[in-house]
Parts: sequence; C-alpha cells; structure tokens
Amino acid sequence: MKEEHIINQMLKEEETPVNFFDRVNFLYDKYLNTLNNETKKYLNMEDERTGMDKKYLFTSELGLNIYDNPILRVGSCEREIYFKIFPFTGLSKTFKDVESIEKDELVKNQWLRKLKLAGVIVDIEQGSVKDLHGIKLKSSIDTFIYNFNNNEVAGLLIKPVNDTAKSIRNQLWSDYDNVKPTPLRVHLPEVLSLLIFYKLPIKILYVGKNNSGLMREFTFGIKDKCLTIDGEKVEGITVDGIAKSLGILRKAIEEKVVPPRAYPRPRILTTTEIGSLVKEKLINKVESDRLVKGDEFKSFKCLSCKYREICDSLEDGFVSINL
Ligand code: SF4
Repeated sequence: MKEEHIINQMLKEEETPVNFFDRVNFLYDKYLNTLNNETKKYLNMEDERTGMDKKYLFTSELGLNIYDNPILRVGSCEREIYFKIFPFTGLSKTFKDVESIEKDELVKNQWLRKLKLAGVIVDIEQGSVKDLHGIKLKSSIDTFIYNFNNNEVAGLLIKPVNDTAKSIRNQLWSDYDNVKPTPLRVHLPEVLSLLIFYKLPIKILYVGKNNSGLMREFTFGIKDKCLTIDGEKVEGITVDGIAKSLGILRKAIEEKVVPPRAYPRPRILTTTEIGSLVKEKLINKVESDRLVKGDEFKSFKCLSCKYREICDSLEDGFVSINL
C-alpha cells in the first residue's frame, strides 16, 4: 500500500487537530512513523539492525559508570540499545526529534565543508568496523583532521549544541574566570571508545546551533587506562568502564536476554550520592538543591526514553523474555 494511502487511513481513524498548522505537524508525525527504508537512517521508524542475525553497535551508543558507581552513569543505556535493535515497541518519534537531528546534520555539514576548503581533512585507512570485546563496533567519527599548529592528526567529532541553554553555556562558555570549560559528560563514552578504536587523539568541536561563532574545542587521549582531557587525567572514566558495558551487551545479544537498567528507578539519594553527582558535573546547583530537599532523583535519560513503559514493567537485572 502506498504511504499516502496509509496516512489518509490513519487520519480518518483518529482525532486530528483543528488548527491548520497543528494539523500539518500532526500529518508529518504520521508520515515519519509510517515511512521505512529511507536512505536517511534517522527517518526510518525501524532500526536498520532489526532483521540482522549479527548485531553491531555504534561507538556513539556506548555508556559507562564513572568509578564503576551505578549512580554516576554517563552516555547510553544498554537496555535501551537492546530494545532498539531487537526491536521492542517504543513511543513514536516526533517531528521535533527528527527536526533536531536535521539541524545537527546541517551544522556538521557546514563544518565539514569549511574543513575541506581549508585542506585539513585527512583520509585514513583505518576501517570503520572493528571487533571490540566480542562486539562488532561501527565508528561514529565525523572526519580526521591534520592540525598544522602541532603537526598532529586527530579524529574529529563535531557536536552542535543548544547554546541558549544556561547549563550548556555555563559548562562550555563560562563567563567566570575561575570556571574551567569542560566537555559534556554525555559525550565521554563515545570519545573513549573512539580512542580505543583508532589509537589516535580525538577532538570534539562544540558549535552553537543558534550562534555558529560560538565554538569550544577539547582534545582527548588515554593515560594509565583513564581518559585525558587536554592532557589532564580524568580518574574514574576508564577503558575498563567501556569494556564492562560491552561485556553486558555481548551477553545480552548472544543469550537474547534484556540487559539490566543502566539508570536507576526514581529514588531519594543520600547526601554522599548527591555530592558525587555534583562533583562529576552530572547535575547542576538547582537540581542538587532540589534533591537535598528530598525530591526523588529521576534520570533525564529515562524521562526521554521511548522504552520507559516496558523497562519499568521488568525487573532491574538481566531478564529473559520471549522474543
Ligand atoms: S527507561 Fe531508563 S533504564 Fe530503562 S531502558 Fe530507558 S534509559 Fe534505560
């Protein structure tokens, strides 16, 4: 059946908004969740790995626990990845999800164009798929660049960010002399896995989505199994953390069991736990004040997770369910 016929059928069956532009957005939501086999991956409703026997993962999909502490989680959740690739039914994607990805793609492509014009893009014969701890990993690197200032070749990730969000501005473009800019924690597992993957320095270039003149660069490496940011060792973010996450995913994929939740259910935290979250820059002052007053800690990752309903209905550890 043609896509437009399916959409028309859905429009007849459901309450549609009365306002003209709301109706246009509503229709686009339906279109996005009906389409498949698009060349642009993010437009597909179904993950490309769904029907494959041998599953692979992207380096951008990894996560880890800082100091192996479950409350100090950064990056993706193994359970969410599992739900996505097998697949389980999650909430539909919205036009807002897709349009945000499209904006990011635009900013990335603008920067790739500038780097190409400057003649600093390097072709590296490294391969984009590697086996790491028994998992087939696909690289998410954007490009490789030659930095003529220090005669160095590095992998580059271009990360467009919402520069009007106060928390992001404070972390990347702080106005205070005594506050050192630091990369967003959510990107560190990806960086670490790319460092293991390529054995080359990796850079992140943060670019403001609303003000393209706003940029912040960080260079990463590995020392004593720990991540380094601009030469400084970050204790607690280690290659062992990545290995542990890959081990969980390998077991889950091989044995077809749902992996444990990587993020905790909402609960009240101890003062020590709140202090650790602040120290690792995983929550800001406003949130820590709220938690100290006795509010429950709710992971933002779970709040936006499309599989929250099914996840909450299962036990927290490995779970065997029929696929
Ligand atoms: S709800 Fe949270 S713990 Fe569950 S799959 Fe999603 S991100 Fe993971």
